[in-house]
This record gives sequence, C-alpha cells and structure tokens, in this order.
Amino acid sequence: MKPTLFLSHPTCQLHDMGDTHPESPDRLFAINQLVQKTDWDEKLIFVDAPKIDVDWLSRVHPKHHVEALMELSPREGLVSIDGDTGLNPYSIMAARHAVGAAIHATDEVIAGDVKNAFCAVRPPGHHAESAIAMGFCLFNSVALAAERALAAGMSRVAIVDFDVHHGNGTVEIFQDRPEVLVCSSFQYPFYPGRYDTVNRPNICLTPLSAGSDGAVFRAALEQQWTKAILEHQPEMIFISAGFDAHRDDPLGGLNLSDDDFFWVTQFIQDLAKQTAGGRIVSLLEGGYDLNALARSVVQHLNGLID
Ligand SMILES: [Zn+2]
Repeated sequence: MKPTLFLSHPTCQLHDMGDTHPESPDRLFAINQLVQKTDWDEKLIFVDAPKIDVDWLSRVHPKHHVEALMELSPREGLVSIDGDTGLNPYSIMAARHAVGAAIHATDEVIAGDVKNAFCAVRPPGHHAESAIAMGFCLFNSVALAAERALAAGMSRVAIVDFDVHHGNGTVEIFQDRPEVLVCSSFQYPFYPGRYDTVNRPNICLTPLSAGSDGAVFRAALEQQWTKAILEHQPEMIFISAGFDAHRDDPLGGLNLSDDDFFWVTQFIQDLAKQTAGGRIVSLLEGGYDLNALARSVVQHLNGLID
C-alpha cells in the first residue's frame, strides 16, 4: 500500500506573533511530539517542505499585494497587519514553506507515488483573500494548491473546509470559478463574517449553530457535501483541516470530539475514492487547544492512512 506524506518545515515554528497569541509555534511542537511518539509502521513518510517561488503566489494573490506584504516584513520585532495577524522576521519564509508544502504535496499525490498527504504547517491560509491577509493567515495555501492541480491538467477539483471558522478567503478566490467546488462547515454566526452567505452552485456552505455536536456535524456533511461532491466529480480533493471545532478549543464554540476528526477524514476519503482516485492533500488550518489539536491530527492521519 502507498504511504501518506507528512510535510513540515522547521521555519514554520519560527513564525511567532507574540507570547499570548493562540496561533503559536507550540501548536506544531505539540503535533510533532505526538506524531513522533506514534508507531506508523512506515505508512507515514516525513518530508521537509520546500519554499515556494514568490512568482507562484501571484496565481492567487495580485503581485502588488505580495510585494506589499514582503515589504512589511520586519528585520526584528513584530509588525501587525490587523488586530490578530502579524509578521515577525520569519513569517514570510514560514508562509512560503507552508505554500511550498501544499504545492509539493499536490505534485507528489498527482505523480501517484504516495496515497495522500498532510501538511503540518503554519501560518494557516484559509482566511487569506486574494488581496487581504487576515485571521492569522498570509497566503491562501489551499487555494494555491488547487491552482496547482488545475495547472497540472485537472479540470475539476474540490476544497473541503471543516475548521470552526468559515474559509472566507477560499470562497472569495473561487466564487466565480465553477471548476472549483468549495464546501465549508463553520460555526455561524461567527468570525470572520465574510463570504458566508455566498450563493453559487460551486459554493456549498454548511453553517452550524454554536454548541452543535458531532451528530449534528456528521448529519449536515452527509446531507450536503456528499451530494455536492458526487455532482461535481472532482479529480482531487483538498482539505482545509482546522481542528478548532473540537469541544476543548478555546476559540471555537462547537462540540466535536477526537473521533469526529477520524470520521470526517474517512468520510472525505470515501468520497475521494468514488470521484478522485483517492487523491487528497490536507493542510493544517486552526486548532488551539494543544492537547486536543495533537490528538485530533493523529486521528486525521489515522483516517488518511486507513
Ligand atoms: Zn479556525
């Protein structure tokens, strides 16, 4: 059986927006610690993520926007982009490795030597709109990966997003691109309150009220995502894998358990097998309770490997 690729890069742990910021380097430390402790029996291959060329970013983000972000990059200290997003001297490099992981994973899964891939990277990306960095996100890695698959000759792809926060950036980028299906489940109403009522055939929105548990989550996805994905027939599925819908998460208000992340992974895998030859690339988005995050990522990997 082909292995699952696990991509990360040490630079992703140097991006730091301050001691009290929930999107901290500790997130990757916690994930790596638990993942390294687990016996994967050669089903998981660890790879250092390459850094994406700046030119590739303009597939999604206008050149002037990328240049402006790079010019903001400080030599020392921290500069803020908005109330909750900032740059330290390593942030742009970390973001380029995060995108590089997503692109390399896409190439490898398309080449067929690996079964699927998970990118344990930060900063996350799904709140980044084409010309706005926000919500802890600089570049929209999942959107850039989807563009890579299309550039490689695929005619239809899907992005599914189960982060507790709506993937506004991904919807903004693809709302007028019928070849890209975007399915997003999220607490509603909630941050960021943007692009969460878009009405297009290729945008499948699954708002969940605060307090919703795994049963509600599973029923909603089975009802809405199955139909959307089977109709779209994507050749590859990308996952914006946020784990902040976990009941222990300090930012989110949903009540998912570790098991729900195994379930959702297998649910997506089943749909990918039916439509996309099993091709999946998954990217870390949110998840801010360190223990719940690490355990949920292991469940997600169990689901990808299985
Ligand atoms: Zn989130």
